[in-house]
Amino acid sequence: SGPDPRHERSAVIDLDAIRHNVRRLADAASPAKVMAVVKADAYGHGAVPVARAALQAGASWLGVAHISEALGLRAAGIDAPLLAWLHTTDSNFGAAVAAGVDIGCSGWELERIVAAAREQERPARIHLKVDTGLGRNGATPETWDRLVGEAVEYQDQGLLRVVGIFSHLAVADEPERPETDQQVAAFREALAIAEDAGVDPEVRHLANTPATLSRPDTHFDLVRVGLGMYGLSPFEGQTSAELGLRPAMTLRTLVSQCKEVPAGQGVSYGLHYRTREASTLALIPMGYADGVPRVATGGPVRVAGKTYPVVGRIAMDQMVIDLGPEASGAGLHGAEAELFGDGSDGGPTADDWARAAGTINYEIVTRISPRVPRRFI
Ligand code: PLP
Repeated sequence: SGPDPRHERSAVIDLDAIRHNVRRLADAASPAKVMAVVKADAYGHGAVPVARAALQAGASWLGVAHISEALGLRAAGIDAPLLAWLHTTDSNFGAAVAAGVDIGCSGWELERIVAAAREQERPARIHLKVDTGLGRNGATPETWDRLVGEAVEYQDQGLLRVVGIFSHLAVADEPERPETDQQVAAFREALAIAEDAGVDPEVRHLANTPATLSRPDTHFDLVRVGLGMYGLSPFEGQTSAELGLRPAMTLRTLVSQCKEVPAGQGVSYGLHYRTREASTLALIPMGYADGVPRVATGGPVRVAGKTYPVVGRIAMDQMVIDLGPEASGAGLHGAEAELFGDGSDGGPTADDWARAAGTINYEIVTRISPRVPRRFI
């Protein structure tokens, strides 16, 4: 037998960890409900299995950016309430209405959503989005009254239902900053305007993962959690474990080759690394085509219980670690190599790779490419 060749390189997704994290976040959010954010293939973890696990563990909503992502979940038989919030003029609003997908609406979408509802002979379900300070999508405070007024008119005509009102936070990962207070105040104001106009939404939602964990005043009826569900910390100075979260993705492969080289051996394109003494080099068959950032030289790889930094440039398919002079040449050929995992036994984490690449943990897991098979445990 031996290892399954399809799994020689894999992102192992621990669905128990997903369920644990959803329960942890639901606890923090209670009595507010949980929307599991599964956009971008569940931040690289696999949208359909993650959505199912999240719903099992108590999430009652799902959230994605694009209607196409929502339709993928519906096609897999997932019928939970599901919101898609980022659109273009060619987005398929008709398919969203037909599939019972809730549509985020910042303003310009309204006429198209109503046209789709007429065509489908079915009321659209919409969530009105207000920009409370992030400066991305959502109606500005100046256009909010008008959007609410128009939505109420269409609702009265039976063409749509305003199921939700929402906004998104800009600095919730930095709890000491004052802008979150301003966003909460602006959100309350927008809600009051909508209520005065006769809107009675089922769900009002503002919080992301950091706000769910640190700001109960942002919870309202529903929190939208992504990062925390994947077990990663949104806070600079706090680890997953300190937050009671378990990282769900392990990126692993097998050492593809081991060889003894003399002192002064150059390694990888540009020859920016040279061995200081006679050493054993181990070849790791992962590279930037797998989504490992090319700039992350120095990122950690654990082999046989010890963690080594990547030396030389990360290439498209491969990278190299220097096992040093003690390792016997062929001894670790075929050994398991872990780039990151749950960190529970001091092993490398996505946070370590984020530091090596000068980015955030969100990007490290999300960018692991489709070339790496996902294996669900
Ligand atoms: N809500 C919206 C609108 C988002 O775009 C995102 C992700 O960026 C989230 C919620 C989830 O954020 P987080 O992953 O920090 O929980």
